Amino acid sequence: MYLKMAKRVVLETDKRLLGKFILNFGWRGMQSVRKFKKRLQKGEYFPAFLYISIINSCNLRCQGCWVDVASKQEKIDVDAMNRMIDEAKEVGNRFFGILGGEPFMHKELLPILRAHPECYFQVFTNGQLITDSIAAELKDIGNTTPLVSVEGSEIISNERRRGKNVYQRTMAGLQNCLKHKLLTGVCTSLCQTNIDDLLCEEWIDRLIEMGVMYTWYHTYRPVGPDANEQLSLTPEQQLKIRKFVVEMRVKKPIAIIDAYYDHDGKALCPAATGISHHISPWGGIEPCPIIQFSKESIHDHSKPLKERMEESVYLKDFRETAAGATRGCIVLERPDLLKEVIERHGAADGTARGTAMKELEAMVPRPSQYNKAEQIPEKSFVYRIAKKLYFNDFGAYRDLDSK
Ligand code: SF4
Repeated sequence: MYLKMAKRVVLETDKRLLGKFILNFGWRGMQSVRKFKKRLQKGEYFPAFLYISIINSCNLRCQGCWVDVASKQEKIDVDAMNRMIDEAKEVGNRFFGILGGEPFMHKELLPILRAHPECYFQVFTNGQLITDSIAAELKDIGNTTPLVSVEGSEIISNERRRGKNVYQRTMAGLQNCLKHKLLTGVCTSLCQTNIDDLLCEEWIDRLIEMGVMYTWYHTYRPVGPDANEQLSLTPEQQLKIRKFVVEMRVKKPIAIIDAYYDHDGKALCPAATGISHHISPWGGIEPCPIIQFSKESIHDHSKPLKERMEESVYLKDFRETAAGATRGCIVLERPDLLKEVIERHGAADGTARGTAMKELEAMVPRPSQYNKAEQIPEKSFVYRIAKKLYFNDFGAYRDLDSK
């Protein structure tokens, strides 16, 4: 498999874009994790990866979306984005996740990407607004990977995303990315209506055939004003995903990302470990995208971003409470504990709808990625090494594991 992957990288990629990826994401990304680990040793928590929702607006209306996409448009403007990215660069960060809403609805997205040539950006998008000229400009900028979300077959895509020709329009955007040889990924939020169609070798082979270089299986989170709990996965299905991903990593010439397991297959929450936190379209500094409560904001310039995040007792309490309760997702497994953390610090509801607390109170605890009885270690030595060094629990679960 590794030779086939190497062959794809050599034959299918644009070498300038590959070079940017290796330097900005690969080498500089590793440095930023090393600096994160050094900060941890001093008890300083500033995440190596910021996930930034730059706009709330979107052209789709997906089931289970928590982002107030139909509310009055709110976006982080160019100056605020550049200031935040510059401050994060001062502590060594070079990788940023860009989310929405739909990021390509932000008219200044491309100038923001272009303003930071030494960084690498992963843009989470439904792909529908990526025209040929936008894909060409992304190629020219060179430091961005589009991660295009495909949520099912044509019928399921229309149903899941409440639109017409959703699948075709997403595929058109994806093809524009591939035509310009952008390092392109495809992600799916696996749920009851798409798991059989998309968690299979045929779909992986299809992605490889199209020229997609990596894929990411998220698991559906029943949160927000339109939670659609019936779409949630069972523990058996979540285990099936884990086993499938581990198998495909040694079998298929495509990279497969996950953010929920270390090299030994032990579950983790990236927000609880502190390696990543989220910035909302309103500038709130949140533990993760689905925890829409904050105490600090990027728009408060009384202190540098680093200090505001490191001194946040709310984020500290969140990390310790989450890591003390489960290796899985506190939102799903212990919404009661999360509510206590939010109330303890008087964290503000960061949504336009203002109903996030009511939604949290209505949540019924359910299983997440943590399956104590079944931990599936990585089979691939590449993923074992990469995770062992650069993506694990960073010691966050010492107390929990010792119980
Ligand atoms: S709290 Fe849940 S959704 Fe948020 S990062 Fe952790 S595991 Fe993921």
